[in-house]
This record gives sequence, C-alpha cells and structure tokens, in this order.
Amino acid sequence: MKLLFSLLIVSTIFTAGLVQSVSGQSRGALRSAERISGDRFTVALRTPRGARIYAVSRPNAAMLNAIDRGLTDLFAAARRNGYSRLLNYSDYTVFIAKPDRQKNADGNYSPDLAVGAGQYAGTDYDKGGYIYAAGMVISNSPAAFLIAEHRSDLSRVADIVRFEGEHLVLYHNDRRRYSQTADHSRGGGHPILQ
Ligand SMILES: [Zn+2]
Repeated sequence: MKLLFSLLIVSTIFTAGLVQSVSGQSRGALRSAERISGDRFTVALRTPRGARIYAVSRPNAAMLNAIDRGLTDLFAAARRNGYSRLLNYSDYTVFIAKPDRQKNADGNYSPDLAVGAGQYAGTDYDKGGYIYAAGMVISNSPAAFLIAEHRSDLSRVADIVRFEGEHLVLYHNDRRRYSQTADHSRGGGHPILQ
C-alpha cells in the first residue's frame, strides 16, 4: 500500500513536469515571436480546423479560413512526398503580427515583416540590417511561424502558410532535405514540395 502510494506521487510529479515543459516551450515561442516582431499577441484563438492562433488584433473569418486552406495544401503536398508527421491542424501555431510595410517596391499590396538580416546580410534582400519577409519560422517544436495581418489578397496568406509550413514538415520528416532548403540566402525558394 505504501509502495503504491509513493509510485502514484512520482507519476503525478512526472506528469506535472511534462505539462510544464510543454507549456514552457509554447511560452518560448511566444517570447520569440514578440521579440522578433516587436508586437504583443493578446488575442488567442483557433481556426475552424484547429490551428492555434496568436494575434495582435482579432483576425476575421476570411483570414482564419485562408490559414486553414494553406495548411490543407501543405498536408496534401507533404503526403505526395510520403511524409506522415506533423499533418494535423492542431500541430501548428501561427502568430499574426502587424505588417511593417503594406506595399512592396513595385507598389503592390504586400504586407510584410521587417526582421533582422541575419544570414541575408549583404544579399539583395538586405535593406540595411533588416529584410522584409512574408513569413518566418519561429520554432520547430512546437511548430510555429509568424505572418503579417492581411486585409485582402488572402490567397497570398494561404501561400505563405503553406510555404512556412514546408520548413516545419521537412524538419519533422526529412532532416536532410530540411537542411538543404532552410536557408534561402544560398538559393532556392518555395514551393519546395511539389
Ligand atoms: Zn522559406
């Protein structure tokens, strides 16, 4: 009886520790997203299909549906390539930040994020220490990325979600191909998965 009791305690502590470390990882992704974007994500909700959303302001239904559509396209492409991991909507966290520009150099609507140039320093992307990105992976586990809030051109949102998701699918299914395609400063773009 005494033995059973202490086993129970140990198992409870272990479970509590596990839960804490998972939510600790999510907090880490949130902190990274806030640091990179300079935004505060005060709105938390789910898409109709169950992807986790953190946003600066409440996204409308069209924006949420576009995110689901991008993930649907991603999962189809992943299956065509024989990948089976990370194909649930609930595996993904999407941070929706305020765009740092509304239009690109050609004057077209293109809500993008300014992020530190990093490995893109000195390339054509470099705008003087930063680059404009349509999206950016924040964390591989949990699978999380950052995109900019869109008011229109929601097919662009679906594409960005699919494209950022490609890096995450590859990280969890094909680490070699992930390494070969993760850094666009050395060439290559999206879609990676045909
Ligand atoms: Zn990419």
